[in-house]
Amino acid sequence: MSFQTIEVRTSRRNEFVDVTGKVRAAVTESGVTEGLCCLYVPHTTAAVCINEAADPTVSRDILAHLSRVVPERGDYHHLEGNSDAHIKSALVGPTGIIPIQAGQLVLGTWQGIFLCEFDGPRTRRLYVKVIAG
Ligand code: ZN
Repeated sequence: MSFQTIEVRTSRRNEFVDVTGKVRAAVTESGVTEGLCCLYVPHTTAAVCINEAADPTVSRDILAHLSRVVPERGDYHHLEGNSDAHIKSALVGPTGIIPIQAGQLVLGTWQGIFLCEFDGPRTRRLYVKVIAG
């Protein structure tokens, strides 16, 4: 079993950062050929999303839609002023699980892995736990 931390420096308040290559490298480094790749962000204003990575307009559209559904200013009580980021994080979620076969992540042709930033720019951590089995 292997546990690795991927550090991601984000550059905007709302941003999808493609981390597919870094996760692939973590799986290769683990040496696990059959199993599960578990992803987790230990943050309350970030998330993990597996979705289309080939066309960047898709993640742009997801971010734009989230911002319409959860506007930055609203009837929020949280004093820190970033309730929209917490809500987006809760909607998208902090985890992802991807099967590993023949040493490779089992991703669809168009799928990629994104660290989703909702209150950047910040330095974020993505934990990668690879479980053989
Ligand atoms: Zn907050």
